[in-house]
Amino acid sequence: MAPINKHVKLKRSAKARRMALRVDYRDRVVYLVMPKRARLDTAYDFVRENRAWIAEQIESLPEAIPYKHGMNLPIFGKKVRLEINYDSALKKTDITLTKNKLIVNTNKEDPSGRIERFLRELVRDKLAELSHKKAKIINKKVRSVTVRDTKSRWGSCDDKGQLSYCWRLVFAPYEALDYIVAHEIAHLRHLDHSTRFWNLCRELSDDYVEGYHWIHNNGRDLMRYGKAE
Ligand SMILES: [Zn+2]
Repeated sequence: MAPINKHVKLKRSAKARRMALRVDYRDRVVYLVMPKRARLDTAYDFVRENRAWIAEQIESLPEAIPYKHGMNLPIFGKKVRLEINYDSALKKTDITLTKNKLIVNTNKEDPSGRIERFLRELVRDKLAELSHKKAKIINKKVRSVTVRDTKSRWGSCDDKGQLSYCWRLVFAPYEALDYIVAHEIAHLRHLDHSTRFWNLCRELSDDYVEGYHWIHNNGRDLMRYGKAE
């Protein structure tokens, strides 16, 4: 990956047949995907030709929302106030989640990494609990649940029962999180997106309609949190 200008990154792909521009909401850049053997000067020309479009896309990206003392974070969709108490005399960072506060006592000037780690563990536990519960309903076994910082998929699974989710689901309302889990668990029985798959997915969801629509309409916003400009 090489930067062409501040907002465009180059990505060579064995699968790409022609050049294409893709807006990346997590990395806040536009990727120029190009075939493996395409020439670099053609890529530069392509970017030049599309300069106006690229600028427009970058400008219309929703603003990033870095962690700041006093801000509200939607944890499982519920408003939680972030309280960062900095004290250089502290030995380590301690994070506690109460009913409506996320309290961070820290000796770090920028505790973003610690906050993210805490949220990852929090959502992993919740996702694991839901995954096991739903798998049991259809007599399937979940072998492992991990979270990652994926940007195009909210979840994935394999035939061995190993599930993986995007940690940013921690900022989604419960119905959306629940739907994503139902979706992956339904794949343990049907590996396709057939009618039978969707029927099972609906059955396994607490509120399929709300969850499905929320994630499709608002999913991109989950990428905004925790990153400074
Ligand atoms: Zn699927």
